[in-house]
Amino acid sequence: MRNFLGVGVSPGRIVGPVRAMPRPVAEPPAGEKLAAGTSADEAVSALHAAAQAVQAELRERAAAARADAKAVLEATALMATDPMLIKAAAKLITAGSSAERAVWDAAEAVAAMLVNLGGYMAERAADVLDVRARIVAALRGVPAPGIPVSNTPFILVAEDLAPADTATLDPAKVVALLTAGGGPQSHTAIIARSLGLPAVVAAPGIDRLADGTEVYVDGAAGTIATEPSDADRAAAAAWAANAANLAVFDGNGTTADGRRIPLLANVGGAADAAKAAAAGAQGVGLLRTEFCFLDRETEPDRAEQVAAYKGVFDAFPGKKVVIRTLDAGADKPLPFLSDATEPNPALGVRGFRTDTASPGVLARQLQAIAEAARTSAAEVWVMAPMISTAAEAARFASMCADAGLRTPGVMVEVPSAAVTAGAILAEVEFASLGTNDLTQYTMAADRQLGPLAALNNPWQPAVLQLVALTVAGAAAQGGGKPVGVCGEAAADPALAVVLVGLGVSSLSMTARALAAVGAVLATVTLEEAQEIAKVALAATGPAEARERAREKLPILAELGL
Ligand code: PEP
Ligand code: MG
Repeated sequence: MRNFLGVGVSPGRIVGPVRAMPRPVAEPPAGEKLAAGTSADEAVSALHAAAQAVQAELRERAAAARADAKAVLEATALMATDPMLIKAAAKLITAGSSAERAVWDAAEAVAAMLVNLGGYMAERAADVLDVRARIVAALRGVPAPGIPVSNTPFILVAEDLAPADTATLDPAKVVALLTAGGGPQSHTAIIARSLGLPAVVAAPGIDRLADGTEVYVDGAAGTIATEPSDADRAAAAAWAANAANLAVFDGNGTTADGRRIPLLANVGGAADAAKAAAAGAQGVGLLRTEFCFLDRETEPDRAEQVAAYKGVFDAFPGKKVVIRTLDAGADKPLPFLSDATEPNPALGVRGFRTDTASPGVLARQLQAIAEAARTSAAEVWVMAPMISTAAEAARFASMCADAGLRTPGVMVEVPSAAVTAGAILAEVEFASLGTNDLTQYTMAADRQLGPLAALNNPWQPAVLQLVALTVAGAAAQGGGKPVGVCGEAAADPALAVVLVGLGVSSLSMTARALAAVGAVLATVTLEEAQEIAKVALAATGPAEARERAREKLPILAELGL
């Protein structure tokens, strides 16, 4: 038996076989020639056969896919045998290039041409490059890139996953996620939680397990074991039985003594919002607008933006929806706002800062938000990401006023914003703590890096102190101003209690976590939450803070959280 220890980022206990994510297809050496003994005719035939095989495989996947993925897969399948691509590659082979190198270069040229055409055509460039990787994999006889296809459920194992990979996961097939790299605040971890998949990240060595190895995963503890015992199987069965109870939230976040703490949802678009509303969310605490446009090369026009935002607002008539302006940069680059050459993108021109480098985009987005808000019944609040100073907050508030948006707010995710929360909240109506970035910037630890996972932990007492400082700064403003949390910390039921004890007034999380957070919050009074927060604040490290808080919450063990 082998045991692995990583960082548990999404609870759940499960037994199943692992399947590895194929490694990305490596570029063939520049100038690679036809192998000795292979004629150009043979290489061209091999190219045609590989392209046909890729097309057949993509068509098969399209036939079995959900409606939204079907169209994409069908379009990509067509691209595999695109005459322009195949003819250009065949020409390069006739000139002496290896088939792999020929298709690589031909696809590069086609993609560049599509990018130059702009608009819809530019967006197809990524499909050409995807098809290229698949054809090269077929020529080499290695597995195609992307999530493995299987008729039976499996546990996906990878070095790390890109947000685009996880977005196409089918939770009916992929039943848990394990990565050797990645961090607890990475977008992979966020998506695993939103899909309700047990997940462990930063588990060194896990990506070397052979396909088909059966493992037991405990997503809360962060442990993985091969050769599951009877006790492991029983724990997995008990979790499966209990999971149904934790899927239902009564739409009423309160402490045991009746203090209302609205439990809101983090969403990335209308489909998420509909699911969140069905799961009982009391509103939206974070609409990540950049998620609506992640695959866009160019700025979406007004009508498209209005439709995207209205789709979310309309899911919550009469309820609060906090919409965040585009948070482009770092691990969420948007080609029309991000500079891909920045040496250190997390510290670069991201979030609100893009307004200086690309003036106009933010003002146009605020206009679109205002239009969508006017035609919907939601109570729309607007916030800017990556605010560092009171001057930035004032500028954002004035831009919101220009657009006719009356409730401007800011994300507090940079330590300077937490430290100067009083001055910042003098300029705006509310703050929302983004604990994912607040942790990475407080600890100077990239949220995507597995080796820094221990530092990158929102239980760090330094992070908790900045939360307390933010709340104190907001309370000092006339009548007090609300501070919510929309980072992943809010989805950890024990940490959620600590945050409430520190004085935050609402919690926003993936809809999947609402029931668990609601169930745990309902077992403590506000005073008990404040006591638990004190204990966590007094700890000298994150493990001690977490342990001491959890000791006071016996309900967690009962629910397997
Ligand atoms: C955060 O930083 O906590 C946050 C909610 O924003 P994002 O995860 O989108 O960076
Ligand atoms: Mg953030």
